[in-house]
Amino acid sequence: MILYVASNNAHKLEEIRSAMPRFDIRSPQDAGIEFDFPENEDSFIGNSTGKALALWKLLGIPVLADDSGLCVDALGGRPGVLSARYGSADGTMTLSSEDRNALLLKEMEGRTDRACRFVCAMSLVLSGNRIFVVQETCEGVLLEAPRGAGGFGYDPVVYLPGLGRSIAELSSDEKNRVSHRGRAILRMTALADTLVQLD
Ligand code: IMP
Repeated sequence: MILYVASNNAHKLEEIRSAMPRFDIRSPQDAGIEFDFPENEDSFIGNSTGKALALWKLLGIPVLADDSGLCVDALGGRPGVLSARYGSADGTMTLSSEDRNALLLKEMEGRTDRACRFVCAMSLVLSGNRIFVVQETCEGVLLEAPRGAGGFGYDPVVYLPGLGRSIAELSSDEKNRVSHRGRAILRMTALADTLVQLD
């Protein structure tokens, strides 16, 4: 079954491709489409579903999309859906990951409640009225200083108490096993396999 993923991020496409070997995973570029969706909803599910529906309207065949970010309890869930744009005045000029992490740790200076979680929503649109959504988390604690050189984005500032390391200190296999995206892909794969069998 052909499944389009509403992303041009090669890393994300590869991660999904290796987790969903039964599906022929394709990108908007494979269909010759320049796809860019403004992620302006106030929830991860709103963004992932909006993105999947927008590409489905262009292609008319099944589409998978995701949206993710970091939610910090002491900040009322921020940066949340604005994780990529955190610290950017108008949302266009985004900061580097290093600058975003430094800004986040500065904003959290002196705060003892450091619970946080990565969240990943994934939406599968089979048709305009057949939409399947999963959302998963990866629970962590915000460090006081970055640790580790792996991963990307906020990984160096999120510590996983269960593993005793920051996410940037994990191998990519280890990260895929525990990450919000890895867990969401696992759920979505199980769901998609069932849907294929039932259809
Ligand atoms: P998106 O889902 O690709 O739009 O990701 C939004 C933002 O959330 C990214 O720019 C990252 O800053 C952050 N983010 C999402 N997933 C991760 C992750 O696995 N590690 C670190 N940062 C992440």
